Amino acid sequence: MATTEKTKKGSINVTTENIFPIIKKFLYSDHEIFLRELVSNAVDATQKRKTIAKAGDIVDFKDDNPQVIVKLDKDAKTITISDQGIGMTADEIDKYINQIAFSGATEFLDKYKDDDAKQAIIGHFGLGFYSSFMVSEHVDIISLSATKGAKAVKWSCDGSPDYTIESAKKKEVGTDIVLHIAEDSLEFLEDDKIGGILNKYCKFMPVDIVFGKRSIQEEDTSGEKDEEGNIKQISKEIDNVINNTSPAWMKKPADLNEEEYTKFYRELYPMNMEDPLFNIHLNVDFPFNLTGILYFPPLKKQMDLQKNKIHLYSNQVFITDNVDNIVPDFLTMLHGVIDSPDIPLNVSRSYLQEDANVKKISGYISKKVADKLASMFKKDRPAFESQWDDLRIFVEYGILTDEKFAERSKKFYLYKDTEGKCMTHEELIEAVGETQKDKSGKIVFPYTSDASAQHMFVKDATDRGYKVLTMEGPLAAHVVGSLEQTHTDIQFKRVDSDIIEKLIEKEDDDSTSALDESAQKELTPIVQGAFPEKGYDIKFAAMSPTSAPFVITRSEWMRRMKEQQAVGGGGFQMFGDMPEKFDVTVNSNHPLATQLLNEKDEEKRSATVKEAADLARLSQGILEGKELAEFISRGFKNLQS
Ligand code: ADP
Repeated sequence: MATTEKTKKGSINVTTENIFPIIKKFLYSDHEIFLRELVSNAVDATQKRKTIAKAGDIVDFKDDNPQVIVKLDKDAKTITISDQGIGMTADEIDKYINQIAFSGATEFLDKYKDDDAKQAIIGHFGLGFYSSFMVSEHVDIISLSATKGAKAVKWSCDGSPDYTIESAKKKEVGTDIVLHIAEDSLEFLEDDKIGGILNKYCKFMPVDIVFGKRSIQEEDTSGEKDEEGNIKQISKEIDNVINNTSPAWMKKPADLNEEEYTKFYRELYPMNMEDPLFNIHLNVDFPFNLTGILYFPPLKKQMDLQKNKIHLYSNQVFITDNVDNIVPDFLTMLHGVIDSPDIPLNVSRSYLQEDANVKKISGYISKKVADKLASMFKKDRPAFESQWDDLRIFVEYGILTDEKFAERSKKFYLYKDTEGKCMTHEELIEAVGETQKDKSGKIVFPYTSDASAQHMFVKDATDRGYKVLTMEGPLAAHVVGSLEQTHTDIQFKRVDSDIIEKLIEKEDDDSTSALDESAQKELTPIVQGAFPEKGYDIKFAAMSPTSAPFVITRSEWMRRMKEQQAVGGGGFQMFGDMPEKFDVTVNSNHPLATQLLNEKDEEKRSATVKEAADLARLSQGILEGKELAEFISRGFKNLQS
């Protein structure tokens, strides 16, 4: 048993010869977290003292605002973390530091022999305090316990399993941890470095953390005035408190207004220019503990998959801004804070997904988000519609990756047509049900991924009285596929996937063609000559004489597979290497068809067929560069005659 009468030497009971070099190597990338560990120990000790002092069993605080103070001494090469917390007696140091911490250390080493473990996990192995040896060659603990009549003690250890413990001089209750910084870690003696680490990990800890001083301007109390008659301002040095001890997520939603939520958002992301659209306050205490605020950033149409925006906390201590595997992927598009002591951090990330608590937490958050969107839709539909462009990509990503979210989204998912009208699935079916039903009874939803590039096709479809939906962005192909699975009575077809006559196939075709089979046979190689590239199949259809002479289309199915493959999605890899394929439909009722057959002047014929081919390419948006420039300067000379 340790005594404080004279210096006592001891050896920490651990089988590993010298574990510190190993800890050091293991957690190489996370050296800076020593400060989080020590400051949060100091905060815990302060809160423990607060709780117990109320019961009157221990020495009470001198003032009612106990602080944790972090000090640098560049000359002595030390960092000192001082608190006015509960303190430790010699026996407690023996119990909490010498024994418990080391059992944690050996457990840690046993578990993480492989490389998978460079995680910020040591706090959860009782290794927290020992992380100080990642940056120190020597550490002192000087502590006076708040237990009435306790004596101050000093513990010293140089990172080997040997330590000393002796009596010390300390008048105020609390603990000073003095780190004698190692030569290879001198960067931690820089103010900016420590300031940055404190700001990252300790910004919302629940006890004031002081790091240095800062000056403020204050009115002179003597009331003395300057030349302009204003009360003189004097500058004053005050403690630089680096944290906000009661962050918004710890408050009750009823105690916060919109402005305060936005203010907190700016506190979280001082660099973000745009304010969030709205937020969701999370608060649950059964079957797990979780609080937090999630913000919807304005996403616009780009899929700004900027992760590292949700910050994960455990009891107001910052843990990580990498929430992969903790929340469903689509939710990582959101910003904000999640605080939960129930997320296990002592396992590697690949196991997190399987953790029952993490699954429940994911499910809970996903439901809260869907509920919020549903309630916004119900409460104020025009406002919801005005934000829909910003929300849509998020919702669609959720539909694709979270089955339950997909089901819930039926209440508020909106289709938008080319005129900008928003409709729910039911409303759309109601509006187009009869006009857009094909001969097999399916309702066809023509859509466009780019209304200006596909405007000829869009126009043909809207002229027929069809509603054309806008489905933009890299996820469109996946989204339409998924919507077809949830609503089996519908089928999406991009406007340029077929000629307008066949986009929604009605009763069997009874239109008469101006060209018989032998004429078609004769014309095929002539048209093919204008499409020398691979992958163009020539077909014939009896379209209206006023429609275009040739129409290039690309099968819905083929294009979708290719697009899905491009974004990445299981099972589509094999389509990636398939060649592009287009259909060229010759309008056999267009006068050009007969004209080409009758034209005897070879040169004139091939010039004409090229013009018609380029016109078709132009409508498909595949006439580019030099070819396009030539086409524009040449005009429709031959087609017009
Ligand atoms: P953990 O914080 O995960 O329990 P640590 O190794 O960081 O593991 O600390 C071990 C124990 O040492 C703590 O649980 C606490 O009882 C005690 N301790 C550490 N730092 C302080 C401090 N500043 N004041 C009082 N007790 C402390």
